[in-house]
Amino acid sequence: MSEREPFFTESHDMFRAMVRQFVESEMEPFADEWEEAEIFPRELFLKAGEQGLLGLNYPEEYGGSGLDYWYTACFVEELVRSRCAGANMALMVQSDMATPILADLGSEAIKQEFLAPAIRGEKIAALGVSEPNAGSDVAGIRTHARKDGDDWVINGSKTFITNGTRCDFVTLICKTDPAGGHQGISVIVVPSDAKGFSVGRKLKKLGNKASDTAELAFDEVRVPQRYLVGEEGMGFYYLMQNFQGERLVASLSAVAGCERMMEDAFKYGREREAFGRPILKFQVWRHEFADFLAQTEAARRLAYFAVDLFDRKLPCTREVSMAKIVCCELALKVADRCLQFHGGWGYMDEYPISRTWRDVRLLTLGGGTTEVMREIVAKLSDL
Ligand SMILES: Cc1cc2nc3c(=O)[nH]c(=O)nc-3n(C[C@H](O)[C@H](O)[C@H](O)COP(=O)(O)OP(=O)(O)OC[C@H]3O[C@@H](n4cnc5c(N)ncnc54)[C@H](O)[C@@H]3O)c2cc1C
Repeated sequence: MSEREPFFTESHDMFRAMVRQFVESEMEPFADEWEEAEIFPRELFLKAGEQGLLGLNYPEEYGGSGLDYWYTACFVEELVRSRCAGANMALMVQSDMATPILADLGSEAIKQEFLAPAIRGEKIAALGVSEPNAGSDVAGIRTHARKDGDDWVINGSKTFITNGTRCDFVTLICKTDPAGGHQGISVIVVPSDAKGFSVGRKLKKLGNKASDTAELAFDEVRVPQRYLVGEEGMGFYYLMQNFQGERLVASLSAVAGCERMMEDAFKYGREREAFGRPILKFQVWRHEFADFLAQTEAARRLAYFAVDLFDRKLPCTREVSMAKIVCCELALKVADRCLQFHGGWGYMDEYPISRTWRDVRLLTLGGGTTEVMREIVAKLSDL
């Protein structure tokens, strides 16, 4: 890969091989079981932690590896081979969604108490943004924290929270000044054993079955004021920064997913015959797949461009949002056409495409919908 991919060195390639080995031995063989159970063993976090997969970019003093973002790209791309999007998402929430704010802005005590055990896989992390009445409109959240003595007292609810049923802490986005709009939002770490914290329904989903997605409730939950992350009132801006990593991870997964879906489809199409010919040889499909190969390559280049900007800490919100639109929308199209290519078998659980078709549907919704991404691109393009 390195010769054609200037971003990846030999060391990235060795890391990629290690992740592939991990995914093929510790995840892929159990994917069906985990999907059926709608959960996977907690030990997977520990195993991933032991391999250093949960803290690739974090400082070594907290157990991270201090590596560049291209290692994260390798990690995410290889995870797709597990065929268990739910477990993949749970791990990525732990490594790239719920913890970056703690690493960037948390106090030393927060890093020792929450970040370091999350990197080791000992504590499970969740990110609490979405609420029953506010998803895209983050400034519209109602979960509220008020100061009382040395504590924050938190009331409200969150929904759609990945890792929600068994998280050890939530990186919680809440209002600390209800009248303050965007400036009234802060980030507070809430341990799940705090009195008044409870897990509501575990939600039934279309796909990503192996990850637990839950409602959380906060009823007069009291946590020390030192659990505030960064500055009070800056939470909205921290979250917008945090979203860039989350959206990149989604984009990279989407491109790797397109490749995997086509790999499976080509294998199927070489063996399955209709009218005396392998179905892959029908001109309509050859041309459609040629288009998808071209579009996947174009999507990958855009995602890598955004990764490069992100890795070099250059402004990248516009490019990351573009990548999320292009890569995630493409994955939906590729999934649908690959299912069609399998004929009736595509509708049966015997072939991976039926699960993937359900799983990829999340890509244009989670971490910012396509419509919200378009709005960002339009705004940043002065439209
Ligand atoms: C499986 C799963 C796991 C998730 N995990 C987490 C998690 O761990 N933590 C967490 O906090 N959240 C999580 N989410 C929530 C996810 O981030 C939200 O679903 C997403 O942000 C959209 O919010 P919403 O569902 O409230 O939709 P809404 O915001 O109600 O949007 C509904 C529709 O309106 C459109 N829309 C909204 N605003 C605009 C606009 N300005 N312009 C044009 N169209 C607009 C949207 O694009 C969408 O089509 C998860 C969701 C799912 C499905």
